[in-house]
Amino acid sequence: MNDEVLEKYIKAGKIAAEVREASAKLAKVGMPLLELAETVESMVRERGAEPAFPVNLSLNEFAAHYTPQHNDETKISEGDVLKIDVGAHIDGYIADTAITVDFGNHAALLKATKDALAAAVGVVKIGAAIGDISRAIDETIRASGFVPVENLTGHGLDQYVEHKEPSIPNISLRNDTKLTEDQVIAIEPFATGGAGHVKDSPEVMIFSFSADKPVRGVDAKKIVSFVQRYNGLPFAERWLMTEQAQNAGVPNSLFKVRLALRELVQRGVLYSYPVLREAKAGMVSQAEHTVIVRDEPIIITK
Ligand code: MN
Ligand code: MN
Repeated sequence: MNDEVLEKYIKAGKIAAEVREASAKLAKVGMPLLELAETVESMVRERGAEPAFPVNLSLNEFAAHYTPQHNDETKISEGDVLKIDVGAHIDGYIADTAITVDFGNHAALLKATKDALAAAVGVVKIGAAIGDISRAIDETIRASGFVPVENLTGHGLDQYVEHKEPSIPNISLRNDTKLTEDQVIAIEPFATGGAGHVKDSPEVMIFSFSADKPVRGVDAKKIVSFVQRYNGLPFAERWLMTEQAQNAGVPNSLFKVRLALRELVQRGVLYSYPVLREAKAGMVSQAEHTVIVRDEPIIITK
């Protein structure tokens, strides 16, 4: 990794971390998630980065991939657990980080993922095995009296690539694959008192461009052309209901946008990210950092 790329990662990391902390302070009982999401994404842009994906604001048993819809009326309630998962990128170099905010009585659940993340980051160095990171997460969460979410994992990152190998499971599995110098990885433990796995919900709020294939609908064509600006990174349905999108010919109708999105997913032009819900509706907490693998690892989102 050259110095220029390293600097971009460090800047993206600093911005993502600042925004994560500011968002956690801003979130209050009664606040609409839509207002919080728009504020979070503006904070990323004001600091000179772009959102690497729509901010995920997943409440309670929803583990990930909830971002408010254009007409979303959900508000934070007393007793909620809110995961704030923020991504910032500079020229495609992504920092991915998350925090959980407690509006109830869930301190132990939050501590489980915070401690698991610290334990996992402590294992990172050149030559460390992926399995050792997973074991640190699994053992820490179970020792706290919770279970890790087995089908959500940490991941590698690359320029304009949000998920690549290695996958870093949150449950202890033998994996001797070694971390290599300058690999960029996101470590993201999830803990729950529920079943320990998530299932797809019917709701889809986040998409990414997958493959250029012929499409018939005029609206679908306009959407495909508009979303090229995200370079394959995930985008929100909400981002298609903006003035910027309408100036590019995206219809000013949620109904038409949804119809076109459905066509594009069916044709394999877009990839969809359904909201992920804990299988037994257990409360879920998450913590996440992005780390550059070195002998002295650089936690860019610290
Ligand atoms: Mn994340
Ligand atoms: Mn991630």
